[in-house]
Amino acid sequence: EMNKIAREIDEYQRGKTKDEIAEKYNLNPTEIVSLASNENSYGPPPKSIQAIKENADRVYRYPSPKDADRIRNEIASKTKLDIDNVVLGTGSDGIMESLMKMYIEPGDQVLIPTPTFSYYTLLTKIYKAEPKHIERDQNYNIPENITEKIDSKTKIIFLCSPNNPTGNTIDREKLKQILEKDILVVLDEAYVEFADQTHAQLIKKHDNLVVLRTFSKAYGLAGLRIGYALTTPQITKKYKAVSPPFPLAIPSIEAAIAALNDKKHLEKTIQKTRRERKRLQKEIPLKTYPSQGNYIFIDASPHKATKLTEKLMQKGIIVRDCTPIPGCKDTNIRITVGKPRENTKTIQAIKKITKK
Ligand code: PMP
Repeated sequence: EMNKIAREIDEYQRGKTKDEIAEKYNLNPTEIVSLASNENSYGPPPKSIQAIKENADRVYRYPSPKDADRIRNEIASKTKLDIDNVVLGTGSDGIMESLMKMYIEPGDQVLIPTPTFSYYTLLTKIYKAEPKHIERDQNYNIPENITEKIDSKTKIIFLCSPNNPTGNTIDREKLKQILEKDILVVLDEAYVEFADQTHAQLIKKHDNLVVLRTFSKAYGLAGLRIGYALTTPQITKKYKAVSPPFPLAIPSIEAAIAALNDKKHLEKTIQKTRRERKRLQKEIPLKTYPSQGNYIFIDASPHKATKLTEKLMQKGIIVRDCTPIPGCKDTNIRITVGKPRENTKTIQAIKKITKK
């Protein structure tokens, strides 16, 4: 089992890198388009780059708690919450890990509406708990009877809004209904900046909600591994007891603070992503689903996802084959919204490949 998990982690980490693909298909690495990991296609915020340079000579010191508190304060004021509503972690992946430590004993159950982000299932297995997969409905919404699936062994439910890979958001009433249950509700809002709604303010009314956020997507800092969560002061206190003493590096803290203040880059990212998302949905000659994220979920029927992604790769375009994701069909692919010319290249390649 541990070997299998190690392989799955390896797959999650590596994805398909530009260099691998370039070598395999004899392509020029600079021409390869990476649209498989939902990163910010428009690059990092210029203010963050500057902040990293300005703080480079401080890195022989450990970050101080004051450094961490500065970013927590910035996040609190941006989200109209208090500093003790904010926790930090090494990516939202790192925060999920700490939550597992806090809430999961071997043999417990974790509820996971599928298809969704695969790491929830992987983490559950690492902690020797049982992932209970519940299939979403036709439009990938959480099924009506979800709360009936919760029993005394169920400790956590992972909800993702906008959901990766399907792109839809969760209905507020449905979320509230789940929050009435006595389990930890992890609401992953990794892509919320691209969406038109957040549920973060519900932490004021519910003591069992953790809202995950990240600097890896809209803020364009995936390589710095900065995640945060919005939650109640009680959970914040418990979190502190299990989280590593220095989860964020100095350059990460400084870059994140700068990113929060680089409004221009964030606005440009959101505006371009929404515009290009619409164009991809209109011009790709396959069934695309509505999306509130920086990616598009596709049913490529009658084309098989594995074959289609392979053919795109031969043309230097890397997209996600969703076949291995529980709950996905073998015709599902996910494409990150890229730069305009990357999207044009992708649309043209798909047209060519799928033409009868
Ligand atoms: N949640 C979702 C839904 C994601 O898609 C991802 C990354 N693909 C993550 C969390 C992990 O993000 P981070 O870089 O903050 O660990």
